[in-house]
Amino acid sequence: MSKNIFSPVRGMKDLYGVDFNKYQYIIDTAMKISKKYGYSPIETPIVEHTEVFQRSIGDETDVVSKEMYTFKDKGDESITLRPEGTAGVMRAIISNNIIVSNNLPLKLMYYGPMFRYDRPQKGRYRQFHQLGFENIGAKSPYIDAINIALANEILTAVGIFDCQVCINSLGEQLSRENYIKAIVKYFSIYEDKLSEESKIRLKKNPLRILDSKDQGDKEICSMAPKIYDYLSKSDLKYFECVCETLSKYGIKYSIDNLLVRGLDYYSHTIFELKVCNGQYKDAIGGGGRYDKLLSLLGGPDVSGIGFAIGLERLMMLLNDKKFQPKENIISVIPVSEKEIDNAFELYNTILSNDIRAEFIHIGQNLSKKVEIASKLNSTILLIVGSDEIKNNTVTVTYLNKTEDEGRNKTVDRNNIIGFLKHI
Ligand code: AMP
Repeated sequence: MSKNIFSPVRGMKDLYGVDFNKYQYIIDTAMKISKKYGYSPIETPIVEHTEVFQRSIGDETDVVSKEMYTFKDKGDESITLRPEGTAGVMRAIISNNIIVSNNLPLKLMYYGPMFRYDRPQKGRYRQFHQLGFENIGAKSPYIDAINIALANEILTAVGIFDCQVCINSLGEQLSRENYIKAIVKYFSIYEDKLSEESKIRLKKNPLRILDSKDQGDKEICSMAPKIYDYLSKSDLKYFECVCETLSKYGIKYSIDNLLVRGLDYYSHTIFELKVCNGQYKDAIGGGGRYDKLLSLLGGPDVSGIGFAIGLERLMMLLNDKKFQPKENIISVIPVSEKEIDNAFELYNTILSNDIRAEFIHIGQNLSKKVEIASKLNSTILLIVGSDEIKNNTVTVTYLNKTEDEGRNKTVDRNNIIGFLKHI
């Protein structure tokens, strides 16, 4: 089969124009907010040893068992394009000995591309970007609530005001193990009626049956044992405190007892952020507490909590209009060949004053050059003809869609920089 090498690889896309502006805006806003909460940035490699993800995310999860881009490199090592950011950050903390006894809690944030070999659809790509936060070493319901508040604050700051926080608790390991036993018993009764995927999950990862999208599974799940009946007293107290603290923060949340999340490393609080205006139903972000993740990878036995926001899904919800470039694009245009050098000098003077400009000297005549400038979305033309040179002036023409459109103005050449700085 012949491939169209000029299309990006399926499920991947180029980031430019308005989308790039949105991406940058989200990152800048999140960076500013993250400083207030004491986070510092970290960038880890896009590939890790495959085992980093197998050990942390869990072999039986969809991400590890079906969705990873895993390759043998030329040294016959199995490496994987990261499907999420937390595991790599944990690996980096261990490799670089970032945790020394007195620097906890350690707060790190990251952003960048992630890769999952998933079925591409709206809001689901094979290369997508996540913005993530990890807070390691402090285990308390208040920290969990603060994390949820941080995620919520970022979404609000970029203009998402109708975000809904769904939370659940997976408790400590023992509570979770007891609960898993109970649901395996329950789902085994209905095994014949479960979807094919859930039948496999019953053997490999029973918790995930709870977030099946299959209608038949959903009906069976609605009667399944609830995790709250299996949480220990202290797990319940912890969860109640998270909920109370969220209420004190004024953060609206709903408890979703079917929320389990797709990665194995979670314990206690887990959460997802959704938008409730019907525009997009899948989660924009999610996260939770992980008690054993660092120790599982060979690091110290400290708990952490983190979350990641999917940037493509968030960008989809932001209004394109707000992210169209607004700056003036100034085009310097010599009327004919004779004025090229003089106009070029003007163009250079403008650039050296840190003002964005284009030099349009190609084109048979003035109207062709104006057409080119217009295609470049120029908003202001600076025309240099023989009269202008003689009088030491510049003719300014407005192309932007304002009341000035089409108007001409003559500006003294000596004052042109001051003039441009004030438009
Ligand atoms: P997860 O790492 O699965 O908890 O996902 C966290 C967030 O990343 C989700 O809420 C999505 O916004 C985003 N995300 C996960 N998978 C994809 C994907 N295949 N395409 C686009 N965004 C994704």
